[in-house]
Amino acid sequence: MKKLLLLMIVTSLLFPIFSQNEIYQRCATDEYMQYLIDQQPRLKSYLETMENTLNAYLQSKEPRSEETVIVIPVVVHVIWRTTGENISENMVRSQIRVLNEDFRKMAGTPGWNNNAVGADTRIEFRLAEVDPNGQPHTGINRVQTTRTSFHYINDNAYLKSLSYWPSDKYLNLWTCNLSNGILGYAQFPGGPAATDGVVILYSAFGYNSPANPYNLGRTTTHEIGHWINLRHTWGDGGCEVDDLIDDTPLCSQDYYSSYSSCFHPVQCSFTRQIENYMDYSDDGCMNIYTVGQRERMRAAMNVFRYNLLWSQKEKKYINIAGADFNYTDVFSVNYATVNFASLGTLDSLEVEVFPNQLPTTLPLGTKAVKRYFKFTGNGTGFNATVKLYYKDAEVIGFNNGDANLKVYRFNGTDWIYVGGTVNAAGNYVTITGVNEFGIFAFSDPGDDPIPVELTSFTFSVKENNVALTWITATETNNLGFEVERKFENPSDIFSKWETAGFVKSSSNSSETKVYGFSDNNLRPGSYSYRLKIIDLDGTASYSNTIFINITAPSVYFLEQNYPNPFNPSTKISYRIPIKGNVQLRIFDALGKEVALLLNEEQEPGEYSIMYSGENLTSGVYFYTLKSGSFLQTNKMLLMK
Ligand SMILES: [Zn+2]
Repeated sequence: MKKLLLLMIVTSLLFPIFSQNEIYQRCATDEYMQYLIDQQPRLKSYLETMENTLNAYLQSKEPRSEETVIVIPVVVHVIWRTTGENISENMVRSQIRVLNEDFRKMAGTPGWNNNAVGADTRIEFRLAEVDPNGQPHTGINRVQTTRTSFHYINDNAYLKSLSYWPSDKYLNLWTCNLSNGILGYAQFPGGPAATDGVVILYSAFGYNSPANPYNLGRTTTHEIGHWINLRHTWGDGGCEVDDLIDDTPLCSQDYYSSYSSCFHPVQCSFTRQIENYMDYSDDGCMNIYTVGQRERMRAAMNVFRYNLLWSQKEKKYINIAGADFNYTDVFSVNYATVNFASLGTLDSLEVEVFPNQLPTTLPLGTKAVKRYFKFTGNGTGFNATVKLYYKDAEVIGFNNGDANLKVYRFNGTDWIYVGGTVNAAGNYVTITGVNEFGIFAFSDPGDDPIPVELTSFTFSVKENNVALTWITATETNNLGFEVERKFENPSDIFSKWETAGFVKSSSNSSETKVYGFSDNNLRPGSYSYRLKIIDLDGTASYSNTIFINITAPSVYFLEQNYPNPFNPSTKISYRIPIKGNVQLRIFDALGKEVALLLNEEQEPGEYSIMYSGENLTSGVYFYTLKSGSFLQTNKMLLMK
C-alpha cells in the first residue's frame, strides 16, 4: 500500500486540480496482478508466453472477421451488508447498458465519440439467462455478508468464494464495499479460474451511482478492459513504457483529469488522450476505446477466452436462391453454410452457434458433439442444403471419432434423426432437403449400445457436504461410476479433475436404479462434479457436469497444513464465518501443548499462519483451531 499512497501523493502534487478524486484510488489491477505473480511465480512466465501467443495471432495473416459481434454472458454477484450495498436490479441493468454503449460506441449515448481512432469494439454484454446447471436465472446473485468491507488482496479469494460461476462460461462481476477507496480491480486472462473476473466498488457500479465523479459506470468499462488484456494508457511506467497499443499516445504516469475541465496535459511530447477508458479520468471525461485496443481485445477473446463465447448470433436476409450464405464464428471461420434451392416465403435466417457445450435438451447420458446450432427462419416452404461445422476438440467419447457423425434436429419436444454426410477432413456434415429449422446437433447413431441411460443426475448441499444422486433407466455391461470432482482452487492456475470415489453398478439392468454418493467436509469454494460411466470392456463416457458452490458464511474450516510433511516451516490456513475469539495451538504426540500461535478476536474471513518447527524434533504433531463452539484438530508431520 505504501507504493499506492506515494503515487497518489505525487499525482496530487503535480496536478492539484481535483476535488473529490483523492478519496478514491481509480484501479488496483496492477497491484493485484503483481500480488498474483508473487503468490505463484510461474504465472509470470505463463503470462509472457500468453503475450507471445497474442502477438502471433495479431500478426498472423489469417482473415479475421471484424463484423461478428462477440457476446459475453455476465453474472453479477451483489455482496452486501447495508441496504445501499444491495444495489437494485435497475442499477445492475444500467451498468450493462453503459458497457454496451461504451464498447459499441453507440450513437446518441455517452459512449459515442468522433475521434479518428475511436472504435466500435463489437463486443457486447448481456446478463446470463441460465445458471451453470442450465436453469433459468436473472444473472444476478445476492449474498448478504457481515463484513463491513473487503480488501482487494487479503479478502480477494474469500470475496469470490461467496459467489462464483465458472469463469469459462461467464464473466463474473462482483460488487461490494471495497476498502481503501479502491474503485475496482480485474484479473487479466491467465490467472486462477476461481478468482477470474472483475470487482467493482458498489457505489461506482451502474449509471448515476453515488460515487461522484465515478458515477457513470466507467469503472466497470475500465476494469473489463483489463479483464480482456488491456493495460493502462501509460503502460504503468514512464514515457519509455508503452501500453502495447499503437494508436494510444504515449503518456507518463497515472493522471486524474477532472470532469470540470477534462484537461489534456502534454506528456512525452503528446497530448494525452484522457478520454480513453484505460486512463484514470473522471467518468464524465471518458468515451474512447481505440482501433488498436479493439484489435487487442478481440484477439484476447479469441485466443484466451474462446470458451466463454456463448453464441455468435448472425442474422442474414435471404434474397437469392442458389447463393451460399455463410455464417462465421469470431475467427471468421464458417460455422454454417446455407444454400437455398428454393426460398418459399423465407426472407431471413438467424443462426446461433453454441461452441464447446452439449445441447441442453439432449437426454442425459446420450452421446453428442459439444456443439449445437439454433436456426430461426422467418418464412416457410423453403428447401436448403446446410453444412454444419464442428471442431475436433468438441468431438469426445465416440469410438470412431467424427467418422460417422450425423445430424439430429430438436423440434421442441423430440430429437429427430436428420442424417447427412460427414466430411471428417473438413469437419462438417452436409444435410440436404432441409425444409424445417430448429436446434441442430451432431451424434453417431451407430456408436451403441449406450452402456447406461441416465435419466437424472442431481445434487443437494448441506453445509459443506454434497450428496449426489443419479438414476439409470437401463444398464448394459456396465462396471460402475467413477465420481469425478474438480475444485476451482483460488491459488492454482490449473485446476484438475480428480476421483472422489467409485460406485459399482448392477452391470445389466432394464429396471430403474437409484445410486448415491456423499462427498463430505469440503472446503468452501466452487466444485464441478461429473460421472465417468465405465463399461466392463473399459470404455467410458461422461455424464453432464453439475456445478456446486459451497458458500463460506456457514462454515468453519481448518485446512490441512502445507507443505506436509514439513521442515521446518509450514502454512496453516483456516476460515472463520463469525467474528469471535480464535485460538490456534500446536500439540505434540503426547498431547502436550508446544505452541500457542493465536489467541485473539478475528473478523470473518480466510486466514493463514506460517508455523516453524525449528526447535522441535521430528515427529507427529497436532494443530487445533478453536472458535465459539467449533473445535477441530488436524495432524501434521515434521521431518528433519
Ligand atoms: Zn486500471
